[in-house]
Amino acid sequence: MTVATRIGLRNLTLILLGAGAAYYITAAVTRGLVLPGKLDLLALALLAATSQTVLAVFRRQVQRDVASMSQQFQAMAKSGRFGLLMADRGCELSQLTRPANELISTARRQVEEAQAANRELQIQARIASAEKNHTEAIIFSISDAVIVTNRFDELILANQAAEDLLGFAFEASQRKTIDQVISDGTLVRLIRETRNHGRSFTRKVVEHSIDRKGSPRTFSITLSCVVSVNGEVSGVVAVLHDITREKEIARMKTDFVSNVSHELKTPLASIKAYVEMLVDGEAKDEKTRREFYETISAEADRLHRLIENILNISRIESGVVKMTREPILLTEVVRQAVDVALPQAKAKKIKIVERFAPVYYQVEADRDMISQATLNLLSNAVKYTPEGGMITVSVSVDERRGVAVCDVADTGAGIPAADLPHIFDKFYRVKANAKLAKGTGLGLTLVKHIIETAHDGKLSVTSEAGKGSTFTFELPLMK
Ligand code: ADP
Repeated sequence: MTVATRIGLRNLTLILLGAGAAYYITAAVTRGLVLPGKLDLLALALLAATSQTVLAVFRRQVQRDVASMSQQFQAMAKSGRFGLLMADRGCELSQLTRPANELISTARRQVEEAQAANRELQIQARIASAEKNHTEAIIFSISDAVIVTNRFDELILANQAAEDLLGFAFEASQRKTIDQVISDGTLVRLIRETRNHGRSFTRKVVEHSIDRKGSPRTFSITLSCVVSVNGEVSGVVAVLHDITREKEIARMKTDFVSNVSHELKTPLASIKAYVEMLVDGEAKDEKTRREFYETISAEADRLHRLIENILNISRIESGVVKMTREPILLTEVVRQAVDVALPQAKAKKIKIVERFAPVYYQVEADRDMISQATLNLLSNAVKYTPEGGMITVSVSVDERRGVAVCDVADTGAGIPAADLPHIFDKFYRVKANAKLAKGTGLGLTLVKHIIETAHDGKLSVTSEAGKGSTFTFELPLMK
């Protein structure tokens, strides 16, 4: 078998057949064309039998080689791994093994390359997903409303502030065109225009008013284009920043400057006029001169109060106010303030009723500051109550909460509900009451600062337009 294996079974068969045929032809030529003798027949039979055996052996060998290869292929398919084919020496299919192995090597290389590319893609996808989550988290944490659209003007991102402002649910509105989601036509137009005329550097800021739950709010809208890697505009980001309050403060500051200058000018003009009259000798007798002096003094006091108000607010706000805390009887301080306000009230025929608790409790406070706060409340009550009205001033004690309480209630103009949340803001004046009295919108701000910032107390108001107001302040009782 080893000799047969070395020269190849097929070749051996061919050799044997050739030898048999040569022997038979030589015998036929040398003996003349005669019927074959017994020896010839034996030789032929032997030859035929040998070739059959050799062929059978050859077939089995080929079948074994094919089975071996098939097993190796199956093992590869099962493990999913490429390996090289192993062939026995002299294998009848050995000619196939080399090209097959080359093919396998090439396939293995390509699969490994594809796997590496796939791993890279997975990493990239994970990074992109993390970055997307990060960006979304930033957008969702912003208090400004943020809307992101794609190149088809479809909504692809919106935060909670945008949902609240524009009244849509993002989940249900995703991939819908913005005109289906946003009812504000101007905003829709702005987003479309930005995308249409967009360039990578396009960024514009537009001021626009949007009706939010029935009340108009002013927004500064920043519109920017989203640019894809190939430089094309692939969408728009709109950020809506509510500037209603900023605009209101700017307006209030302008009003304040004109109010303050008016307030400063009026007493100054009065002082100047009376001084000139005195210089010109227009006050002939002592009584008239005294009246002039008193008017000058009152106007100077008014000027002083106004400037003090402005300074006190800024001192308390910046925390540099000097306070002299001492035990005081609230009833006593309030009574003194009523005495100061009485002439003003009498001039308007307004009655001031005092309701003071019989027990006197002490609070630890700055006497001048509390007196100033009470006087501001009383003078407002007089200013915004028409002639013949009534002011009730009460001082009581809430022992359970450990506070002394002072109420200043009037039967005056009252404050509309819409103004109430702003009444303690700096420079805020109620439009509906503006004609009733002059002012700067600083009085209540100062009271709020004195009671709450400087004394840890509480100032509140209840009011009904046309019926009157009650301002209440509370101060902690001394322990
Ligand atoms: P002003 O100098 O304008 O009086 P304040 O800060 O004292 O400033 O008050 C702010 C605004 O609140 C006033 O302009 C007024 O419209 C309103 N107001 C204050 N007190 C009363 C009151 N007792 N009754 C009605 N309106 C009041």
